[in-house]
Amino acid sequence: MIHIVGAGIAGLTASLFLIEKGYEVEILEKNEWIKSSACAEGCNFSSLELLPFNFKPFISKKVDGIKLSFIDKYFYIKMDGVVLERERLMKKMAEEIVEKGSKIKFCEKVMKVDDEFIYTKSGKIKYDICIGADGPLSVTKNYFGNKYEYKIGCQYEIEYDTSNMNFLEIYFDKKFSSYYSWIFPKENSINAGLIGKFYKLNEFLRERRIKGNILKKQAGLIPCFFPRKIAHKKIALIGDSASITNPFSLGGISPAIHAGKILSENLENLREYEKKVIKKFCNPVLIKGRRAIESLSNNEMEILFKKINGKEFHDIRMKDFIPLLIHPLLIGKVYYISNALIYSLKFGW
Ligand SMILES: Cc1cc2nc3c(=O)[nH]c(=O)nc-3n(C[C@H](O)[C@H](O)[C@H](O)COP(=O)(O)OP(=O)(O)OC[C@H]3O[C@@H](n4cnc5c(N)ncnc54)[C@H](O)[C@@H]3O)c2cc1C
Repeated sequence: MIHIVGAGIAGLTASLFLIEKGYEVEILEKNEWIKSSACAEGCNFSSLELLPFNFKPFISKKVDGIKLSFIDKYFYIKMDGVVLERERLMKKMAEEIVEKGSKIKFCEKVMKVDDEFIYTKSGKIKYDICIGADGPLSVTKNYFGNKYEYKIGCQYEIEYDTSNMNFLEIYFDKKFSSYYSWIFPKENSINAGLIGKFYKLNEFLRERRIKGNILKKQAGLIPCFFPRKIAHKKIALIGDSASITNPFSLGGISPAIHAGKILSENLENLREYEKKVIKKFCNPVLIKGRRAIESLSNNEMEILFKKINGKEFHDIRMKDFIPLLIHPLLIGKVYYISNALIYSLKFGW
């Protein structure tokens, strides 16, 4: 029996992969029901296709890619992407896990794990293998002594006509966010948010003249630094609990899916799981790319976006940046940003 702490997207995904390989799973979830944490619900199609589960009924809207803008200039990346109905997807995953004979125990808050036991509010459970999937404020990560860095993301879901919106929209403007703001279209609503605080999000929405009925208001922590250890003896971490969220894109769904598959293939050798996951997701170029964006001033953004305005990312050539040689610092930042983008697109977003 494998015990999984947390019935978030990472715990549910890992469970489905493990069940497919013939393992029996018991999930311990502190909430009374399945509930999605804050998420803009954007994901790339190819990562979702790895799931041993029919996710297609839970696509709210398909998009043609990602559009990255600075004021009135933009470039875009073609990609088969989707915006999900994530909570409905998670509820269906949970149903399937139970139908297949595994268990989800609700209101089971895990307080601590050690080499033999999982300690919950109601007692202790001796485990064979324990997978920590308990999100950014994970208690299972404490077993490893891991300390993470986080970004704070806040978001509204707003009723909105999205019939003309076909991209995941990312906006850079230091007026609102030190990193980025986003508008992801769903069928009849948008997820609009930013890295930063709600009052800045309100200013961003005012400037973009976005108004509508607010359906949901959410905020959450996004781990954005690499872990040193995610597996030891009979314990491993996955999802935000492992801090394998892409520190450049800040997307966590795709890394959780890939890691769930790797976990199910390496359950007998968790060191191998750790090695493969860290090799795949923890490329320092991702952090360098994020820091390069964070260090760009609005002036530098303007210079940069002027050069690439209207282009598809894969059509941008180094020669487009030759005029920037008079700004050597900027050229260095462009190098890190483009490498981080290329690396992120390899396994999703
Ligand atoms: C504002 C915002 C927008 C985002 N947008 C996107 C996006 O568009 N695309 C994308 O890919 N990623 C996005 N992310 C990141 C993504 O949401 C996370 O990476 C993902 O939800 C992590 O899933 P998880 O299962 O690891 O953690 P969680 O979703 O946090 O799930 C953890 C689960 O464990 C349970 N739990 C916690 N502690 C305990 C305990 N002690 N005992 C028992 N159970 C416990 C929780 O109740 C929860 O059910 C966004 C994040 C934020 C904050």
